[in-house]
Amino acid sequence: MRMKPLRDAPAAAALVAAAVLVPSCRAPAPADSASADLAASATTIDLAHGAWIDLTHAFNESSIYWPTASGFRLDTVAWGRTDAGYFYAAFDYAAAEHGGTHLDAPAHFAEGRHSADRIPLERLIGPAVVIDVSARASADYQVSVSDIEAWEAEHGRIPDGAILLLRTGWGGRYGDRAAYLGTEQTGPDAVPLLHFPGLHPETARWLVGNRAIAAVGIDTPSIDYGQSSTFESHVILYSENVPGFENVANLDALPPTGSIVFALPMKIEGGSGAPLRIVAWRRR
Ligand SMILES: [Zn+2]
Repeated sequence: MRMKPLRDAPAAAALVAAAVLVPSCRAPAPADSASADLAASATTIDLAHGAWIDLTHAFNESSIYWPTASGFRLDTVAWGRTDAGYFYAAFDYAAAEHGGTHLDAPAHFAEGRHSADRIPLERLIGPAVVIDVSARASADYQVSVSDIEAWEAEHGRIPDGAILLLRTGWGGRYGDRAAYLGTEQTGPDAVPLLHFPGLHPETARWLVGNRAIAAVGIDTPSIDYGQSSTFESHVILYSENVPGFENVANLDALPPTGSIVFALPMKIEGGSGAPLRIVAWRRR
């Protein structure tokens, strides 16, 4: 990534040329003008003509964690005026890796694959492809190959190095545990009661076999739908070192193409996942 110094250019024309495609990916010439436009728009940031979108839910005591995981804790160490006269605040926090807006490292479901600290940055930063199934997604919906094909018929082939974001509409339910997860219960008995949309394993298999995506994100608690007990889409993607982003927020603010995602997790050495700050830049 190369940034032209602001003092050498009018502020309105400050450009960031972002080479965000995964270097190891095949880079075929775009087959048609739609994909050429997609590739071009997705790799250049003009800071004067765009906006940043925060795709992260704030972490707090209501953050959604898996029913068997402990939630987010923030304990006050200090808050207030000190004897020396200055204000001072500090907190201890604790949480499971897999809760709130978070990364699933491939090592979460595939032994020997990338842990949180070893995921190449090229897989965490890239052009976004947003596939919106919110109009038809039910609580047991699984994104199908035909959903992908319908998107490509309209917007062109998913480019190599793309970060595939699945918008099911569940993100808007995040504050309501029963509506978002299908149950308010916690503990092992709650797991069979989970209902939310996900990515069908057949689609995960098609994606790793036919497209060179960098990562997959979704606005639900899990890449696999709530009723999954075998987590096949996790296994299929993570075995190929494709990481996942879960509980992604505000996908309704992104266009189908033309935005760039920056998904930077806490760098937990050996971690199977991590809290994630994910943002996107989009053209205005
Ligand atoms: Zn996870």
